[in-house]
Amino acid sequence: MTNVFIISAPSGSGKSTLVGRIRETVLNLEFSISYTTRKPRGAEQNGREYFFISRQEFEAMIRNGEFLEYARVFETDYYGTARRFLQKAEDEGSDLLLDIDVQGAEQIKRKLPNAVSIFIMPPNRSELERRLRERSQDSAEVIQRRLETARREIENYEKYDYILVNDRLSDSVKALEAILLSERQKRSGQRDSELLARAEICRLDQSRERLQPILQSFQETAAGGGK
Ligand code: ADP
Ligand code: 5GP
Repeated sequence: MTNVFIISAPSGSGKSTLVGRIRETVLNLEFSISYTTRKPRGAEQNGREYFFISRQEFEAMIRNGEFLEYARVFETDYYGTARRFLQKAEDEGSDLLLDIDVQGAEQIKRKLPNAVSIFIMPPNRSELERRLRERSQDSAEVIQRRLETARREIENYEKYDYILVNDRLSDSVKALEAILLSERQKRSGQRDSELLARAEICRLDQSRERLQPILQSFQETAAGGGK
């Protein structure tokens, strides 16, 4: 049976870095390439990061029922997961990894209640700002907008099964691996208690206390003028 894993994160948290690493180490994991109406950025290639299509093409795909989920993200562009990626994973006996936003995650959870959702958190607001600056992809204005969006996105953390605070990269890679592999094992009746223990640390109920200072770091700046 195909396990569906959903990963969401505010921009700059390190999701692409983590997903890139996990795709090298976890076998039998298909990655869904989303469709979007936004324009390609930098070195992005059609069919690699996304399928870049027009709004008319996107709306035709909606009418034809081709999407498992879709959403308007940042109020400007459509993003959607094609059903055929799930079909392909099922045909190949692989699991499926979806990199989608909170709205998409909610739709998938409604349709596929067994899907496992993971939210990647930055260690705090100033570290997120540092990573966004260091990545040098965005202007100062865009970075401020992303930080404000991040503040709103992380408020949704309780909708996810696991919360992974991406502090030290090597620890985060191991934690993400543990979540994927232990969920796989649970569903096939196997049990590796060490793997399970490493994944359980990221369970929502185990994370609440650890998340308080992170949430606080975003709220303080909002109260101080939304910088
Ligand atoms: P996202 O896909 O969530 O927008 P990226 O994977 O592009 O984020 O990461 C944003 C920046 O932070 C990149 O420059 C990346 O190298 C860096 N980064 C990612 N994870 C870590 C980490 N655990 N510690 C320090 N820097 C990180
Ligand atoms: P970006 O434009 O920075 O690549 O992505 C913006 C946001 O859209 C990210 O939060 C990303 O997870 C989300 N996203 C990408 N593909 C999809 C998708 O197919 N569906 C939904 N709902 N969100 C997506």
